Amino acid sequence: MKYRINRRTGDRISEIGLGSAYLYEAGMKEGVRALETAYEGGINYFDLAAGDAAAFPIWGEALSSVRDRVMYQIHFGADYSKGTYGWSLKLDDVKRSVERQLNELRTDYIDYGFIHCQDEISDWETYQKNGVYEFICALHRAGVVKHLGLSSHTPAVIQKIMDGVLIDILMFSVNPAYDYGKGEYAFGEVDERAEIYRRCEAEGVGISVMKPFSGGQLLDEKQSPFGKALTQYQCIRYALDKPGVLTVLPGASNTEEIKALLAYCEASDEECDYSVVGSFAPPQANGKCVYCNHCKPCPAGIDIGLVNKYYDLALAGDALAAEHYRTLEKNASDCIGCGHCDSRCPFGVSQSERMQMIGEFF
Ligand code: SF4
Ligand code: SF4
Repeated sequence: MKYRINRRTGDRISEIGLGSAYLYEAGMKEGVRALETAYEGGINYFDLAAGDAAAFPIWGEALSSVRDRVMYQIHFGADYSKGTYGWSLKLDDVKRSVERQLNELRTDYIDYGFIHCQDEISDWETYQKNGVYEFICALHRAGVVKHLGLSSHTPAVIQKIMDGVLIDILMFSVNPAYDYGKGEYAFGEVDERAEIYRRCEAEGVGISVMKPFSGGQLLDEKQSPFGKALTQYQCIRYALDKPGVLTVLPGASNTEEIKALLAYCEASDEECDYSVVGSFAPPQANGKCVYCNHCKPCPAGIDIGLVNKYYDLALAGDALAAEHYRTLEKNASDCIGCGHCDSRCPFGVSQSERMQMIGEFF
């Protein structure tokens, strides 16, 4: 397992985390076994916007003995008063739900307390008016909530909330379908979504990824909006290549599915190569580097994806990006203009021209 550091909190977070939408289906015994397998495989980050309240006692049983070595995302607005997941902006519902979750998880603190599921500006207004935001802040001041998170599918709402609130992590839906305007939560244009990734990276706000497989649709040729199935590994690598992303949080319903996710850590670059996504890209995404490095090897030894990432981040105002760029052993000035990357790029990027521009910029 590889780990990434959340720059705002210093937390060391596993690249593969785990969502909790389905695991309750396994029941206590198998659920505990699955979570123990996840923990032993190096997963230390868990999202607890569970599909059903039955999930919490399973987590409590499996992980309370290693509580100080795992991190939980708890959502202020996920309501379990009816047993299954519901969404509420009412303060009493939120208080009751958080108390129940802490009890059943057998813990007295929350690593990341989330402003939950804000997809409309009006949600955020109601959230504040009802005192839910102030409730999280009070728990934050008291040390019960260690860090502040925000979950949303909507770039414009994320920008607005981030303008006013200092968050430590963003939970955002990242997959090629949503990035290319396909699917239930495909909110925001290609560029608006890219701006979220860059802003988070520039401000040191890590992204935890929900719906990396678009609810499973991308894994099934018949359901995929592209008419072609991707693999879990391709989707995970796609998300991990985005600026700002710290961890991907797929769901799993049993031990075998957890093992399949953990196998990503051993997967080859070929297995994770998602260059096929280039053939699905709409015109507005064409010609934009996604940092996939499918165009390698570069005879000049340049890490093409990384050079492009630092360039885009520097343009977005990330002060650290130029520093990182300068530490590279080879950079855009080493490009010999051979054109190999141009012919290899599935996303239509004229990379040799871009390298010249990047070299001049830096
Ligand atoms: S130029 Fe194309 S192939 Fe190379 S990293 Fe960028 S998007 Fe990927
Ligand atoms: S054009 Fe430049 S960046 Fe592209 S493969 Fe050749 S040397 Fe590398």
